[in-house]
Amino acid sequence: MRWRGRWPRWRIGSNIRGEEAVSEADCIFCKIARGEIDVEVVHDEDDVLAFRDINSKAPVHVLVIPRQHVANLEEVGKLPDGVVKRLFEVSSAVAAEAGVTEGGYAVRVNNGRDAGQEVFHLHMHVMGGRKLGMP
Ligand code: 5GP
Ligand code: ZN
Repeated sequence: MRWRGRWPRWRIGSNIRGEEAVSEADCIFCKIARGEIDVEVVHDEDDVLAFRDINSKAPVHVLVIPRQHVANLEEVGKLPDGVVKRLFEVSSAVAAEAGVTEGGYAVRVNNGRDAGQEVFHLHMHVMGGRKLGMP
């Protein structure tokens, strides 16, 4: 039978939290991945890019992103398994390169409104060089 009802709002242009979908053309991290915006790159490979956060909250504050656009953890299944593994390996390598492995560091994903996610392209914050508490 043909569907005659209304799709829930999040099925159209926004997700379950009411966050608007951003196109790859407009996404700031896609632009960074395409080299259209200048950043301080610290690690560059086929599927994963790492660059310094423009507004660092710790002596070491690097963002690690998949080049492929996924908005958040709800979409992480769209990434090949190998890319998800590389996100963690690159985070560890970036921390080692920055000299914070011994002291320890945080790898944080802000996912959605309550976590304060501002850029809707999945990214991991790698932060170290000072004592970091929760949250
Ligand atoms: P979120 O709050 O979404 O987890 O984190 C987004 C992060 O991206 C913020 O820490 C912010 O400082 C960083 N950011 C936003 N725009 C840019 C940019 O154009 N360049 C760089 N290097 N970082 C950015
Ligand atoms: Zn993107």
